[in-house]
Amino acid sequence: MSVVINKEKCKGCELCIASCPYAVIYVEDKKAFLTDECTGCGACLDSCEFGAIAFAGSQERIRMDITPFKGIYIFIEQDMETISNVSLELLGKARKLADEFSKLGREQTVTAILIGCELGKIADQLIHYGADHVIIIRDEPFKVYRTDIYTKAVVHIVKEKKPEILLFGATPQGRDLAPRVANRLQTGLTADCTALEIFKEDGILLQTRPALGGNIMATIVCPDNRPQMATVRPGVMKRFPHDPARTGTKEEMAVELAEKDFVTRILKIVESTTRHVNLEDAKIIVSGGRGVKDPQGFKILEELAAELGAEVGASRAAVEAGWIDYDYQIGQTGKTVHPDLYIACGISGSIQHLAGMARSKYLISINMDKNAPIADVSDVTYIGDLFQVVPMLTRKIREYKEKNRQIGIS
Ligand code: FAD
Repeated sequence: MSVVINKEKCKGCELCIASCPYAVIYVEDKKAFLTDECTGCGACLDSCEFGAIAFAGSQERIRMDITPFKGIYIFIEQDMETISNVSLELLGKARKLADEFSKLGREQTVTAILIGCELGKIADQLIHYGADHVIIIRDEPFKVYRTDIYTKAVVHIVKEKKPEILLFGATPQGRDLAPRVANRLQTGLTADCTALEIFKEDGILLQTRPALGGNIMATIVCPDNRPQMATVRPGVMKRFPHDPARTGTKEEMAVELAEKDFVTRILKIVESTTRHVNLEDAKIIVSGGRGVKDPQGFKILEELAAELGAEVGASRAAVEAGWIDYDYQIGQTGKTVHPDLYIACGISGSIQHLAGMARSKYLISINMDKNAPIADVSDVTYIGDLFQVVPMLTRKIREYKEKNRQIGIS
């Protein structure tokens, strides 16, 4: 069996070169070629995202007719008439993608998918935050999120409207819903993306996410099927500025629900007893690293955080040491945060940690080593032992608050 490369499909991306165990693939003028030494082993077939490599005479990859698919759609998460931050971030990203499309001479509208029951003025707000159009499914069964009926509703909208791109937040809800939707639509899904852009040559969505434990960033494409679907990590994309003068259109849609659609029933809603870690929305974060030394070390960070109304975060070193849960990890393989104030205690400032917190507005670091890389990017660095500096800071803040209380300032 011999291997052939379809030159029309080949984009010259070079992904196949690394996949060949015999080093017989080379790229010239953005097209891949095989030397005569090719053994026809086929190891390169799966490496090609564009379906350009096949065994000679084998069947063509089955392609969907993608021409009717248009527009960028965002699934909106909301609760009690409040839109989740990640949905607003996705609207901001969708606007940017629409701009990239228009540079290619293709106009794309941004549509928000809003499903729920009591939706108040959410649809208007979505338009103010960047949506051109809002599709609303409003019905009592959608009052609380449920995988089964929400999947049916989103699939119904997609089949009717045929979006080119469909994005969800990489939240518990988005991670639950998006794979089911993708499976029913027989399309691809890239989970937990940290970057999205449009490939300038053919307008395909380039979906980038950390892979192999964060050791590489993989860019994934879905060339043959639509919609191109991704879940996107909260806190990474920027919101579109709120503009109350922005106008758009709204459309109510209905989905018929039969008894068999309700695979689950909600018997009771019980408030969680565990504290929810909300680092992505935190205004102040007190974060600890290997310098904190043990789980007890985090206690003094928690005390400072309590005085500041802050959340506690951590470096991967502290998480891997088992001193604090993964939920608290900030960085390339953890959460992406952008607080007003970030206090890094006993954190050296590795590139992977900075990747998650570099958008902090003000950075204070506390470190024994004045040459630690974190000092280079900090607004203020305390050179000293965090076990002395952190309790001292906590004490000073308490004293300051107490003094203000006495003179009647809250
Ligand atoms: P260290 O680098 O060991 O730094 C400890 C610091 O504490 C030092 O600067 C030291 O001077 C200071 N110190 C020690 N004692 C005290 C004291 N008493 N008072 C004050 N200062 C003190 N890391 C992340 O954080 N997040 C990620 O998401 C992440 N993803 C990764 C993905 C990949 C693929 C890889 C390879 C690595 C990743 N890492 C990540 C790990 C990263 O490379 C670093 O190893 C890690 O960030 C180091 O954590 P640290 O700064 O707490 O520890």
